[in-house]
Amino acid sequence: MEYEEDDFLQLSGVQHFVFCRRQWALIHIENQWRENAKTVDGAFFHQRVHDETSRERRGNLIIDRGVSIHSRALGLSGQCDVIEFHKTEAGVPLRGEIGKWLPYPVEYKRGRAKITHCDEVQVCAQAMCLEEMYACDLKEAALFYGENRRRQLVELSEQLRDEVISAVEEMHDLSKKNYTPKVKKKKCCYACSLHENCMPELQEKESVGTYLTRICGDN
Ligand code: SF4
Repeated sequence: MEYEEDDFLQLSGVQHFVFCRRQWALIHIENQWRENAKTVDGAFFHQRVHDETSRERRGNLIIDRGVSIHSRALGLSGQCDVIEFHKTEAGVPLRGEIGKWLPYPVEYKRGRAKITHCDEVQVCAQAMCLEEMYACDLKEAALFYGENRRRQLVELSEQLRDEVISAVEEMHDLSKKNYTPKVKKKKCCYACSLHENCMPELQEKESVGTYLTRICGDN
């Protein structure tokens, strides 16, 4: 099955969805977004990465920044912070370049690794887009964390790919239904940029109806 372009969802939403389904829906269905110090700083961090738009060559390595990517099979579109193209016989032709090249996505993150593996799932989704666009098979991608300036390799395992597919299927389903999942308070609520919009403490409290039934009984 292939999605129509009108039904494409934002690729960046994959990390939100894996972090918390409700957070994804608040941002991508209800268009709520709360800027805080972290998100503003993160936006500047990505801007700096994307600003350097020219193609850079370093021997058998080509680096492209801020590249638009998509997948019809996943129904996703968005941007890759950095795509490295490595010259290899296992690669594919690249327009304007001699030889064969294999794309390698690198996703930049302002902070440090999160308590969930949402960044790994997102970069795997980027890799799956690149596989479809360049008709190639990729084994690895990378995350670069700005706080400790460390590059973390991500193996594109079958398990990670399955997670991308099931997350994206659920995102399309919820998007079609226009449905925002209910609060499920968890550890990552404290690190959530939409904590004030979501108010998990309030929403988890019992409803007035449940309260009255508990106090007064069924009579
Ligand atoms: S506060 Fe918690 S439940 Fe609410 S959107 Fe954020 S992570 Fe999800």
